[in-house]
Amino acid sequence: MHFPHPKSPASFRARRDRNASIRITLHCERGDVRALVKETAGPGFILRDVARPVIRDDEVLIKVRRAGVCGTDVHIYDWDAWAQGRCRPPFTVGHEFAGDVVQVGRLVADVREGDRVTAEGHIVCGRCHLCRTGNAHVCPNTRIIGVDRDGCFADYIAMPASNVWHLDESVSYEIGGIHDPMGNAFHTALVGTELPGKTVLITGCGPIGLFAVGICKAAGASRILASDVNATRLDLALRMGAHDALTPPDAARVVKARTADLGVDVVLEMSGVPSAIHQAFALVRVGGRVQMLGIPAKPMDVDFATEIIFKGITVYGVVGRRMYDTWIQMTQFLRSGQFDPTPVITHRFPLERFDDAIAAIKGGSAGKVVFEIA
Ligand code: NAD
Ligand code: ZN
Repeated sequence: MHFPHPKSPASFRARRDRNASIRITLHCERGDVRALVKETAGPGFILRDVARPVIRDDEVLIKVRRAGVCGTDVHIYDWDAWAQGRCRPPFTVGHEFAGDVVQVGRLVADVREGDRVTAEGHIVCGRCHLCRTGNAHVCPNTRIIGVDRDGCFADYIAMPASNVWHLDESVSYEIGGIHDPMGNAFHTALVGTELPGKTVLITGCGPIGLFAVGICKAAGASRILASDVNATRLDLALRMGAHDALTPPDAARVVKARTADLGVDVVLEMSGVPSAIHQAFALVRVGGRVQMLGIPAKPMDVDFATEIIFKGITVYGVVGRRMYDTWIQMTQFLRSGQFDPTPVITHRFPLERFDDAIAAIKGGSAGKVVFEIA
């Protein structure tokens, strides 16, 4: 796996990559690319000049215009236990973005200079059992941009052409820049569920839960109940089309009232908070479905007999986005105009205000936070 490294001198990188073309070598001047870098194994990021990424023959170089900031970036910024176990500085952070293709590798056939694109940030092997059975989203060899290799909080990013997703002409760079978390919401809401006419409870109205509210609305759910502990986010849930915006203590009563004591057909668990996960199992109807996106911070107890088995429910674990069914669904919903994620975007910052962007997310009331890079 090619791993562009901001510290490698350009000349060395060009020599090391035997596939690099002369044109790539010419693009390797230092100092013309800004990147937000996790420089050392400690808290914070720095914004600094790096060499322009070198693309392989099967990759494209993308000029980044918009990029979404995510909870994962906050983990890396804080350098918490997960980040310490997973990340190897120095590397450029960021995994949600959209921009323009400015250079294509020799073997790339279906992406051209000037194309408006975003990309699937999970780079999979394409050869394992999972990849070959249509389950690349759980490929055990996955490498994630901005985590395992250089990411998109930069003027340019190199991406395998096979990960590139063309933006529909109706889709802005800003919306393109949040396809990754929107895709999480599409995956969670639509896989294995038939939403038309169904009652849905969404526990957790962070950016992904908020997208899910709008998706469930567009997909024809008859009643959408959204719960959160944060009043600003509950207001956003109402704007996205929720019928009921609930705090957790009210959820059981309102779900019963709206479903004739049955419980909801589907719960989308999008908080990762243990009490909300127990509530998801408690408030789904017998024989219903719980789609689990939220990631608990540590192991938690579940009473399998009463919470899952004797309720006859189906529990689905969400990983990323299905490749590429989720992307096709997302594009079709956006193109039709039946789903508009714009209200979820509450904060926009230039790259140099990265500390403010991280603070906005940590504040807990922001919807989606994006960088306006170019
Ligand atoms: P977020 O942390 O902004 O959203 C979580 C929301 O849950 C917050 O608004 C919070 O106020 C709310 N919440 C807290 N306690 C609650 C409770 N008891 N009941 C209901 N809501 C409660 O995060 P996000 O970016 O929207 O992501 C949502 C979750 O999905 C996170 O846990 C994240 O780690 C996870 N995630 C998973 C995947 C995946 O592939 N499985 C991908 C991206 C994110
Ligand atoms: Zn694989």
